[in-house]
Amino acid sequence: MKIHEYQGKEVLKRYGVPVPRGQVAKTAGEAERIARELGTKVTVIKAQIHAGGRGKAGGVKLAKSPDEARQIAEHMLGMTLVTQQTGPEGKKVLQLLVEEGLEIERELYLGMVIDRAVARVVVMASAQGGMEIEEVAARDPDAILKVYVDPAVGLMPFQANQIAFGLGFDGPTVKSCAKFVRNLYTAFVACDASLAEINPLVVTKDGGVLALDAKINLDDNALYRHPEYADLRDLNEEDPLETEAAKNGLSYIKLDGEVGCMVNGAGLAMATMDLIQLAGSMPANFLDVGGTAGADRVAAAFRILMSDSHVRAVLVNIFGGIVRCDRVANGIIEAMKTVRVNVPVVVRLQGTNAAEARQVLQTADFPFQVADELAEAAQKVVAALRK
Ligand code: GDP
Ligand code: MN
Repeated sequence: MKIHEYQGKEVLKRYGVPVPRGQVAKTAGEAERIARELGTKVTVIKAQIHAGGRGKAGGVKLAKSPDEARQIAEHMLGMTLVTQQTGPEGKKVLQLLVEEGLEIERELYLGMVIDRAVARVVVMASAQGGMEIEEVAARDPDAILKVYVDPAVGLMPFQANQIAFGLGFDGPTVKSCAKFVRNLYTAFVACDASLAEINPLVVTKDGGVLALDAKINLDDNALYRHPEYADLRDLNEEDPLETEAAKNGLSYIKLDGEVGCMVNGAGLAMATMDLIQLAGSMPANFLDVGGTAGADRVAAAFRILMSDSHVRAVLVNIFGGIVRCDRVANGIIEAMKTVRVNVPVVVRLQGTNAAEARQVLQTADFPFQVADELAEAAQKVVAALRK
């Protein structure tokens, strides 16, 4: 789960990671009030969207007075921000973070992510932080220092020091940097993050070390043990179809192709997507309806598939192991009564009572195309959309 910068900073603050003072604003009036309360000569107005690259796209602006903060906020709120990470459709700005302006001496990079290949948290640091870090990583990967953390002992103090020295700190700031790294690691583990990226980590003219930006992703699989983070979810930032799917207990991920897939089991869903590609088209989604493909779920799944205007044909591929195929077939027919399906539908049902299921589908009002084998089903659905 992605969260906003201002939320990430609130989490970090609780673990002793220094962040600039600031507050979130939903209106220009609030932005002005916060700027006034901060009382600094300069304030920074930052668009809160679930994507980076805001600086270059006009989503981070400096205001020299509360009045200017209000003007900037008026302009930014409601705008669609297109950055390198949003895709061409951009993201609508509905909230702003208003922060104290700091006098920045250096911009560095500090990130933590789980490296699945070695099953460890890897800490990445670079003295060349700021807005060009992706280019640094591509051009000069050695400029990024990596430290792997043994999960049994956690981040060792010498490793935190290694990062501080690697970033070019000296004198008293070594200590503040090492402490920053240790606290960030504690926060990462405690909130079950999958990513924590501080870019830039800044050193101010008066020697402070702060997180000027914070991108924190929480591991979806661990959210169940963090009820305290449930309301950090921002549905405005999430795909409405994926939200609808989650409500109905479906695992759905939208993709770019034109064949809508409805499958039970993640492995079968992956295989189905592969065969659609092999047959010459592309899946419009990954959709796992789960073990119990009852009429309600099938109807919800059809509704989701039909609200994607790219879907030009549907492939239903259900293996009846626990669930009986004839029951699924009846579920599909029930579902078609409540959802308008105006594209060809190819159905492959295999397993318990497959013959009965075929009978049910072939005598139905809807012109289902039935297939026995998976490759055949994929070829039929691709042929149907080419017609
Ligand atoms: P991103 O582009 O979405 O990653 O947004 P960032 O939060 O990283 O901000 C982009 C850039 O804006 C930073 O690299 C800084 O150069 C600048 N910036 C952000 N906050 C401040 C601030 O408080 N003071 C100053 N002087 N610059 C800031
Ligand atoms: Mn940034």
